[in-house]
Amino acid sequence: MIIIKDLHVKIEGQEILKGINLEIKTGEVHAIMGTNGSGKSTLAKVIAGHPDYQITSGSIMYEVNNDHIDLTALEAHERSQEGIFLGFQYPVEIPGVSNISFLLESFNSICKHQGAPQMKQKDFEEFLQSKLELLKMKGSFLNRPVNQGFSGGEKKKNEILQMAVLNPRLALLDETDSGLDIDALKIVAGGVNKLKSKHNAVVLITHYQRLLDHIIPDFIHVLHDGKIIKSGTKELALELEQKGYDWITKV
Ligand code: ADP
Ligand code: MG
Repeated sequence: MIIIKDLHVKIEGQEILKGINLEIKTGEVHAIMGTNGSGKSTLAKVIAGHPDYQITSGSIMYEVNNDHIDLTALEAHERSQEGIFLGFQYPVEIPGVSNISFLLESFNSICKHQGAPQMKQKDFEEFLQSKLELLKMKGSFLNRPVNQGFSGGEKKKNEILQMAVLNPRLALLDETDSGLDIDALKIVAGGVNKLKSKHNAVVLITHYQRLLDHIIPDFIHVLHDGKIIKSGTKELALELEQKGYDWITKV
């Protein structure tokens, strides 16, 4: 689905990603772990098309209709229309825009691009019911401004509500588990598992094994100083939890 080759990225003159190679196939779940400041969020934001980051070399190729396109040629909203979704580490508050209009506009914009029929608000409200239930969220969240005054955990759930509505092909979830209590973590993980299929792929950025107990990754990658220094399967997360990062970062 996506092939990243030797990706180098700078922000404000400083190189943050220093040669990332990563290939994700449809149906796979990848976890990205690593110390603070290693470049995890940068990688997610660069894939999603954040305009502040400058790609100095390397490539990101993305499969659309059996063709591989240069993802970096698309703007963020065009990437979203092609099925890329980023659940932010720090969700943004959007005062003055209700959650439901944000979801409906985003949903319809993707439908329009993909040639599917758009929805009217009334039908959309009905469509949203099952998504709200999936995340055990109250309907009242729909009429509030996007994320404004939401608790940390509610913001994270709201990111997954967006994912549930937009049904992305490639979901990048940046520390969606941090700040969640145990029950909310189970709900969010259950939601992601329900949305996961052989037609999409999920990238989980996380510090904690506890998320990976619920959403089992096919591969785990450790990012350090802008490079993937180790990849493995789910057992690697257990090893990291026991031993920390020193044993791989200091060799
Ligand atoms: P992680 O998500 O792994 O904790 P980030 O990708 O957020 O790490 O950040 C990687 C590094 O890039 C950090 O050292 C951070 O300070 C730096 N960085 C990120 N954004 C900016 C920016 N806008 N200006 C300068 N440095 C930045
Ligand atoms: Mg981060």
